Amino acid sequence: MRILILEDDSAIADGLIAGLQRYNMHADWLSSGRLGLSALDTTPYDAVILDLGLPQVDGMDILAQWRAAGHKTPVLILTARDALPDRLAGLNSGADDYLCKPFALDEVAARLHALIRRSQGRSQSEIHYGALVLDTIACSASLHGKALNLTSHEWLLLQFLVTHPGRVLSRAQIEDKLYGWDQEVESNAVQVYVHHLRKKIGHDFIITRRGLGYQLGSMPQ
Ligand code: CA
Repeated sequence: MRILILEDDSAIADGLIAGLQRYNMHADWLSSGRLGLSALDTTPYDAVILDLGLPQVDGMDILAQWRAAGHKTPVLILTARDALPDRLAGLNSGADDYLCKPFALDEVAARLHALIRRSQGRSQSEIHYGALVLDTIACSASLHGKALNLTSHEWLLLQFLVTHPGRVLSRAQIEDKLYGWDQEVESNAVQVYVHHLRKKIGHDFIITRRGLGYQLGSMPQ
């Protein structure tokens, strides 16, 4: 999962990035409101952690502009403003959840998981696809009740495919999902992950659409 953090305190951002990594959430960090305004136009984030007190543009204004532009990405406000009117204003301007500083990292991760689950129209943390079961909290998967041994990139690709049935996902879209800005991407990396997932789950599980990308294939029986 790919998360955007908009936060001007580098210590908090560093803590979030390192902590969320443990939950297989890759976070990109921006520290200014001005940069944050266009961030959702260019990258398909699964959720955003938004600080309110930001330089240049206030977090609340950024949120209002995102929502006015039609961005539906779930937003978790993380802020020192804990007064009730602030919390209400945040929720009323389109935030999906609100957490006050100081916070526990486990709670941030749990709330992000819940927001992402809801935005994908799921009320359960488990996704079933035939004999395949994904546990989106533990970031693990099993086939016929037997745990699959997946690397974090394989897990992210598997989750991306299973949550987008029927869609053709281009290599660029998959790379956007799997890597942060600062990570080098080997040109054949996606091909390699597809190969590994097919070996572990079944050849027909992923369909290659030549020149277009990849698509979720048949359900493992
Ligand atoms: Ca701040």
